[in-house]
Amino acid sequence: MQTIGLIGGMSWESTALYYKLINERVRDRMGQLHSAPLLMYSYDFQGIKELQYAGRWDEAAASLAEVGQRLESAGARAIVLCTNTMHKLAAEITAKLTVPFIHIGDATAQRIRAKGYRRVGLLGTKFTMEEDFYIDRLRAHDLDVLVPPADARTEVNRIIYDELCLGNVTAPSRRRYQEVMAALVAAGAECIILGCTEITMLVGAGDTSVETFDTTAIHAETAADFAIG
Ligand code: GLU
Repeated sequence: MQTIGLIGGMSWESTALYYKLINERVRDRMGQLHSAPLLMYSYDFQGIKELQYAGRWDEAAASLAEVGQRLESAGARAIVLCTNTMHKLAAEITAKLTVPFIHIGDATAQRIRAKGYRRVGLLGTKFTMEEDFYIDRLRAHDLDVLVPPADARTEVNRIIYDELCLGNVTAPSRRRYQEVMAALVAAGAECIILGCTEITMLVGAGDTSVETFDTTAIHAETAADFAIG
């Protein structure tokens, strides 16, 4: 098997899910006591969040690129960045790598296209829902992307940073996400992308009338499949 390098800690709540999901996939596909060869760097997320909200993306990019390089030097044969939002810096990270970078947006879009969907509703942080880096990546796979209106985006983003990244999963926030997803479906979304790696802690199949695509699970499975070869 090939060793995978994980850039994690954004937040650790979802990186813990990656660790479990990657190993479960390897166990299910290979049997016996097989588990995934992994290297992980786990950030102190407070510092990353401060850089994000201050718009200091150059500093974040330099740090993530250096961590990617260090994981490659330590033996990683592919790099997995365990957050949708920080894929804003995918180009800066990949520029410093010689091994593949497994892009969460590509992995997710491929799954969606394989199911024949075209019009997707996207939930994520304000960066993911409002900037081009993620939506354009999905559009490159021929997807039409719908995002919630401004007030709902603010609430979806707040719940991610103030609750889910701290491990708080509450019924009122679940209801709010259900409402936001229902509005996206009413607006024409054929499926919903859970485009933040913590959202799967709060909602999933059963919380909306259409199929959901869990970026954490999809990305983890893609990583495990790369490791297996
Ligand atoms: N894990 C989240 C994501 O997938 C948000 C935290 C972050 O800003 O990295 O976008």
